[in-house]
Amino acid sequence: MRTEPSRRAKKVERVSEGIFPYDPYPEQLQFMNDIRSVVGAGGVLVAEACNGFGKTICALSALLPLNRRIIYATRTHEQARQVLEEMERINIKASAQYSAVNLASRHHLCLDRRCSQLSAGDGFEACRILREEDRCAYRWNLKSFAVRLPPILSIGDLRRVGNAKRVCPYYLARKAAESYRVVVAPYQYVFDPAIRERVGLQLAESFLVFDEAHNADAIGLDVLSDTLSDRALSQAKQELQSIGKPSEILDGLIDYLNVNVSDATAAKPGHELYNDMKLALAGVSIASIIDSYSKAVELIRTRKAERGEPPICHLAGVLSFLSLLETSSKECYVALYRRTKYGLKLIEYRCLDPSLATTPVIDQVHGTLIMSGTLAPIELFTQILALSKAQARTYSAIAKPENIRLRIDSSVSTRFSERGEAMMHRYGEKIAETISSTPNGVLVFFPQRGFMLKALDQWQKIGIVEQRDGSMLLGGKRVYVEGEDAAENRTIVEEYKRTAQGEGAVLLCVFRGRNAEGSNFPDEQARGVILVGVPYADISDPFVKARIEYLNRKERGLGERWYVMDAFRAANQAIGRGIRHREDWCIFTLMDQRYSVNLKLLSSWVLSGNIAS
Ligand code: SF4
Repeated sequence: MRTEPSRRAKKVERVSEGIFPYDPYPEQLQFMNDIRSVVGAGGVLVAEACNGFGKTICALSALLPLNRRIIYATRTHEQARQVLEEMERINIKASAQYSAVNLASRHHLCLDRRCSQLSAGDGFEACRILREEDRCAYRWNLKSFAVRLPPILSIGDLRRVGNAKRVCPYYLARKAAESYRVVVAPYQYVFDPAIRERVGLQLAESFLVFDEAHNADAIGLDVLSDTLSDRALSQAKQELQSIGKPSEILDGLIDYLNVNVSDATAAKPGHELYNDMKLALAGVSIASIIDSYSKAVELIRTRKAERGEPPICHLAGVLSFLSLLETSSKECYVALYRRTKYGLKLIEYRCLDPSLATTPVIDQVHGTLIMSGTLAPIELFTQILALSKAQARTYSAIAKPENIRLRIDSSVSTRFSERGEAMMHRYGEKIAETISSTPNGVLVFFPQRGFMLKALDQWQKIGIVEQRDGSMLLGGKRVYVEGEDAAENRTIVEEYKRTAQGEGAVLLCVFRGRNAEGSNFPDEQARGVILVGVPYADISDPFVKARIEYLNRKERGLGERWYVMDAFRAANQAIGRGIRHREDWCIFTLMDQRYSVNLKLLSSWVLSGNIAS
């Protein structure tokens, strides 16, 4: 006889499959099943599934029937837009009105240009002053606002309703987020405790979906880190003088930066910075400084607003740095002293443990789904994020194993000791050969931009790269080089894609760069992906060193394992550009002897294809 819980589970499964707007394939059914049984039961599921798998639609279809609110953390607006589009499809399929709102930033939602152009913290203050002084033309107190809203609220919808009804779209999104079933929010809104509190995002009893989570550790570290500059200190000093307040206390900090920052980046443990700062502040406690200056911050902002200036407050930035220093676990931090190429002196107080940001969030929600196309090696990923009770699974959706062709060339290496003209020559010949035997578009990834340009220069000199009609040709295909800034890169990539779909083209790019993460090269746009070397981070970088040492203090050898994982994650990200949907196919050529000894660190879906060496 079937028991009550299993009957309930079957019913939920039927609803999940009933609202799924496509024909699910077996791996998708398995993934949805796992989401229901792990996340639905209050656990953490860490899932790696290849690009084009349909992770978003599976997550939504599995979780919606479980009748809890879903907080969907995204990295880009493109991702947020995709979530809302899938919600529309679910509503059509289910003939239902599941609701979803994009809780975007003021930058995207505010209709008042005096506020929308500012950074998050300054925009918050500008908005507060405009509201307090009744100078914003849009209604923001929406307690009694009773307009019927559409079930799906994208940024465009929110702005449309805001303009039509003269209400603030940002506060409209916040109000909708109180009752809507799915709240799509940027990572920072979910993981930064200060922002979370500011936007009133409640986590308890919800499901959390953490999408594109391969950067989870970087995001966790970012939200708990801060930077202090000599310029911010000087500007804070001027602000204090402009309102007639004593500013001498900041002189000690300015002197400290002048003495300690030099051209070579240096590092100190967090507690040493804390002790130094206490001395620089001549025994005045950080808590009392924050206390005595908090009123000055308000006065500075108000005076600026009165003069028609943006209410940016540098003193507030200095206080928030000191506050982080005072309240943080210093043993989990490193202080980096460095000078920028424009001569700015900086102290970066950087968190070394991403779990400090992610654990409090995961502990508060009911269940968590962490997913990405590239989390391998997944066990190490869960260890770094201290997800000891998480269940880790991998899923593949490649229609046929022959769609993936993986070739490892062990005769070359970018290992520092082996780099030289002869090795680059060999690389050039092999890359040209691979490109000429691959149809349409080929992406080639290099460890650094300098390395890539040097290789290109050498290949031109020895004729591996030819010049024809003003274009460079490699393996018979026209060469494009990744742009240095976003706008330049966009134009280059568009042109590359057009040529790739016709006579064929090569795009030279950098691991971890603009075209390695988050960009799309389906079908003919990438029939080949070539990796030149393994993208290990610069071991002499003091932050990399500090992370390795910190992890080794937690567990012997963990730091070195993280270092290798980080390199392979960047390689897996680049590989992920080649397959963008179930029927897509691509030839992957991994050119470094070190790939063959670390095969298990590649995403499992890549290994499901034909491997040759
Ligand atoms: S209330 Fe809304 S529209 Fe007005 S300044 Fe604030 S965010 Fe902008």
